[in-house]
Amino acid sequence: NKFEQLGLNPSILKAVEEMGFESPSEIQEKAIPVLLNEDTDMVALAQTGTGKTAAFGFPLIQKINSSAKHTQALILSPTRELCLQITNELKNYSKFEKNLNAVAIYGGASITDQARQIERGAQIIVATPGRMQDMMNRRMVDITKIDYCVLDEADEMLNMGFYEDITTILADTPKSKNTWLFSATMPKQVATIAKKFMKTPIEITV
Ligand code: AMP
Repeated sequence: NKFEQLGLNPSILKAVEEMGFESPSEIQEKAIPVLLNEDTDMVALAQTGTGKTAAFGFPLIQKINSSAKHTQALILSPTRELCLQITNELKNYSKFEKNLNAVAIYGGASITDQARQIERGAQIIVATPGRMQDMMNRRMVDITKIDYCVLDEADEMLNMGFYEDITTILADTPKSKNTWLFSATMPKQVATIAKKFMKTPIEITV
């Protein structure tokens, strides 16, 4: 099992086995060892369906301190469907981790319900930019102590007009965090975000 050579801990390997993943995809093989072993920013060019969720999800789960309850990672994604899908995947990956919680926040659903879930403790928040911004304004979320920020489908988020939201959100996060940007394409706005908010990212293409 090639997953064992990527540096993943036993509880994730157990989840991998249970999910029936037989070998890592190309993006997983390239990204996982780097993200596990280095505190680095990353720009990864990858389409959906390449296994990119696990490529950032496994390292996130392994690096997060599950004995601390505060929000340590923020994943921004373009749509409600994708938010729910990512959160679901993260729950599968962390099935054998105790006390690790990921919460999805997105528009079109009760904001108070989502705030209540965050209050119970969410080390990982998976959010659409609009609702995230809204909850920040209402002091329902605190991302001032995050260690990791993932921008998933960055090109799609920018196509949908989330540039302002993304930059406002990122401005409220610590400079010391690491940012991992995933995008299928690299249009100008994505390059601008990378240049403005990232520190010499390692680049990966699949
Ligand atoms: P994604 O590109 O992250 O949306 O993943 C696409 C689908 O492939 C999801 O249903 C994953 O659960 C699945 N998947 C991810 N990595 C692997 C793998 N190494 N082997 C088999 N299936 C995988």
